[in-house]
Amino acid sequence: MAQTTDTAVKSRFELAPLPYGYDALAPAISEETMRFHHDKHAAGYVAKLNELITGTPWASMSLSEIILKSEGAVFNNAAQIWNHEFYFAGLSPRGERRPKGPLRDAIEVGYGSFERLKEEMIAAATGLFGSGYVWLVETPSGGLEVVTTTNAGNPMCDGMRPLLCIDVWEHAYYIDYRNVRAEAVKAVWECIDWAVVDARYQNKR
Ligand code: MN
Repeated sequence: MAQTTDTAVKSRFELAPLPYGYDALAPAISEETMRFHHDKHAAGYVAKLNELITGTPWASMSLSEIILKSEGAVFNNAAQIWNHEFYFAGLSPRGERRPKGPLRDAIEVGYGSFERLKEEMIAAATGLFGSGYVWLVETPSGGLEVVTTTNAGNPMCDGMRPLLCIDVWEHAYYIDYRNVRAEAVKAVWECIDWAVVDARYQNKR
């Protein structure tokens, strides 16, 4: 086979492996859900984006650059890759279950307490109509905010810096919780690794 230097010929993006075992977050998130979520849904967005961008100017851009500049199918698939890797990386079977240091202080300033933030994020996730994500973000002015996005939306498109997201697409919970999203979100909340979120807040991603 002929050698080629055309990098667009090979797959531009690859899905990051799950940073823990498929069954590591059970029973909050079952192995079956994880296998479908990571290996079918998230991997599907990667395959689709690679298909869409091969041979186009998008193929030479970073994922974040594509997200900020694209729309339609390219945006949807690129943002879904980013959102899923961010979501999976924010969970851990043996993580810190509370924020520390500067993020803990910022949460206390913005929300009064960690428990109030938890209530607000769970309420936002439960109340979001349709598919999307609930996020903890740092705003351009340096404050914290809980925001929701629909479908593949990502708050970086609004100038926010994502710190944490919870996926509330039905594919994230329907196998385990059927239609009871509130229970799914409460269970996922207990899997958040606040050491990761602390590091993101302190720019050590
Ligand atoms: Mn998902």
